[in-house]
Amino acid sequence: MIIDKLEEIKAHALYRQLNYFESPQTPHVILGGKEYLMLSSNSYLGLCNDERLKQAAITAIEKYGVGSGGSRLITGSYDIHRKLEQGIAAFKKTEAALVFNTGYMANVGTISSLADKDWVIFSDSLNHASIIDGCRLSGAETVVYRHLDMDDLRDKVEEYQGRPALIVTDGLFSVDGDIAPVPDIVEIARKHNILVMVDDAHATGVLGASGGGTSDYFGLKDGSVDIQMGTLSKALASEGGFVAGKQCLIDYLINRARSFIFSTALAPATIAVSLEALAIISSEPESRITLNANAGWVRSELRAAGFDIIDSPTPIISLILGDPALTVRFSKKLLEEGLYVSAIRPPTVPHGTSRLRISIMATHKRDDLASAVKIIKETGRELGILTKKNNGV
Ligand SMILES: *Cc1c(COP(=O)(O)O)cnc(C)c1O
Repeated sequence: MIIDKLEEIKAHALYRQLNYFESPQTPHVILGGKEYLMLSSNSYLGLCNDERLKQAAITAIEKYGVGSGGSRLITGSYDIHRKLEQGIAAFKKTEAALVFNTGYMANVGTISSLADKDWVIFSDSLNHASIIDGCRLSGAETVVYRHLDMDDLRDKVEEYQGRPALIVTDGLFSVDGDIAPVPDIVEIARKHNILVMVDDAHATGVLGASGGGTSDYFGLKDGSVDIQMGTLSKALASEGGFVAGKQCLIDYLINRARSFIFSTALAPATIAVSLEALAIISSEPESRITLNANAGWVRSELRAAGFDIIDSPTPIISLILGDPALTVRFSKKLLEEGLYVSAIRPPTVPHGTSRLRISIMATHKRDDLASAVKIIKETGRELGILTKKNNGV
């Protein structure tokens, strides 16, 4: 039975396997003894191998040892957990914050503990799987609105008036690389007394003058977004997820979010790395500027060549190909040329929208990006994706 299921996955070109790296996640990585230019990392600011972060982990291990020894409510909370949570609250300009073991657990635990079967959750059609799972687990009625479509959201909100409700959206969409119109969402929510939750997993450390995420990017008034979720695992190069908001929200989650309560706390070393990373991203806006310049350059080069890529001021460049088999072929050819670009297929994206997801790092060198762009264009031509007319030659 399991073998039949696997055969079906393979027949649809959707079979996936693990790759095991042998080096830190820097712009150049080692896989199977060979070096590749990494173009698929979420470590946007290139901090995964940062000396200051490594030292923070080593110092914490020497002081606190390795495992945390228990769940947060029993024996797993340390003084540095409190320091990190206060730091996140200050960074997000909220009253309080709570660290979960992963961003996935933050979404699942928060949504499922707040909403119940009497609630309605309005959810963007391209929201991350962890949001979808949180909605499912809550038992609430989930109403999916068209991606970024505020008219559709407004219609649906009006249709379901009178019930406790939540609007939830990715801030920076993880595979399309576009940005939710958070100010419009907040305005709709205020009018109807609905809670707003924004998942800034990819926006944290990336968007906004101080890297605060979408609220920072749009210059929203503090407290506009009721529930600001984010992760420590992407730009911050650590591990863990967080929720920031009012003190009452955090107190509630501590008491009710099952993914927070029933899991061993992150190791003190991981918390120490997050603390140090938070200090770095707050004090080093230069690397965000380099990141945006790198990403803007690659995006405009590939768009000019004729690839199907949306325009967006983010480091996620989604090159949509449609067919999963073609996407895998493209990715494999790039790998042969020394470029690591992962093929994103269903169930991660809707059917018919398989793509290469290129993500840019602040630490990429322009020369490396230029040769990558050249190889991607050549491969696009070779596979017949770029026509003669718009092949950028
Ligand atoms: C990565 C991601 C998560 C999950 O965060 P982890 O810390 O990796 O578990 C949640 N939401 C979005 C939009 C993401 O991209």
